[in-house]
Amino acid sequence: MWLGIQQIEVYPVTLAYREPFRIAPGASTESHNVVVRIITDYGVCGWGEASPSERVTGETAETVVKVLDKIAPKLVGMCPLRIENIVELMDNLVAGNPSAKAAIDIALHDIFGKTVRKELYRVIGGYRTEVLTDITLGIKSPKEMAKDAAKAVKRGFKALKVKVGVDPEEDVERVRLIRETVGDDIQIRIDANQGWTPKQAIQALNKMTKYNIQFAEQPVPAEDLKGLIEVKRNSPIPVMADESVHSPEDAVRLIKAEAVDLINIKLMKSGGIHKARKIAAIAEAAGIPCMIGCMGESEIGIAAGAHLAAAVRNIQYADLDSDLLLKDKLVKKGGTKVKNSMRMFPKIHGLGIRELDTVKLGKPLKVYK
Ligand code: MN
Repeated sequence: MWLGIQQIEVYPVTLAYREPFRIAPGASTESHNVVVRIITDYGVCGWGEASPSERVTGETAETVVKVLDKIAPKLVGMCPLRIENIVELMDNLVAGNPSAKAAIDIALHDIFGKTVRKELYRVIGGYRTEVLTDITLGIKSPKEMAKDAAKAVKRGFKALKVKVGVDPEEDVERVRLIRETVGDDIQIRIDANQGWTPKQAIQALNKMTKYNIQFAEQPVPAEDLKGLIEVKRNSPIPVMADESVHSPEDAVRLIKAEAVDLINIKLMKSGGIHKARKIAAIAEAAGIPCMIGCMGESEIGIAAGAHLAAAVRNIQYADLDSDLLLKDKLVKKGGTKVKNSMRMFPKIHGLGIRELDTVKLGKPLKVYK
């Protein structure tokens, strides 16, 4: 065979957070991910990862494994470089389930970079050579969050993503105290994770604007399009859609409705890098800048997001920090390490993952060949 997928391995992994990570809808102590390895018949293999969020896409590690059981057998023997074709095939086999599809898509992109013997970001656009990421401050009391902010700045972070969306008054206090603590030179963006009503959002954002907030993510519930439009119209802070935009089709719908100023792309919502690039292109044509975000990915999924952000001009912001929030590390060598808020790319082909922790990875649950 020539340029064919020979084997696909599926590894469910559980990765613990350093501390309980709380956002408006609830707290997490661990991330249940599914790692995929695709082995070709020409000596190249690629790593991919799903980090499903039940709240956002309705997926769990269990559903990802089930969906991969439908998709993976059909991919054996196919050319791994026919990514658009494989993405179409996956959509024809199973509707939705973007995290499961992202695991395959990411592994195919890793293979693509390794096949052409270049770092992935260089061969899908190569716009920038490093990526500024923020670090997220989970919800705690305003005082505790201000302490966390000071620690993050001491570690070199130039941008903070502040989780809010609990109590509007207290949320304003969070932002005030954090801005006072870190000074004027640090970028602050906020994320309400659907936690406010439109009225609460408009009031809170008008109070927060004096603390120089870059943008406000998902102020109202994902399905409340009218509410989002109302907030965007009445907010002095630019509004970013996260949970409201999963796919290229969602991006078109929200842009047409004039509901957003910015879009947060996540590989786990879009189904991987291929469709994420389409969202970024649609948004660019409409004058809407994008951010790349993450769910609970390890260094593998984060590397995929970082390569995409480096490649694409319109991905102007990055919130790629879940591997830093996780205590458990899956990658031993390689990956996109952070130095002074910047994601750096090692001179390793593809995603740049060189060695995994084989004990944490364990034996594959499923092998398709
Ligand atoms: Mn968000």
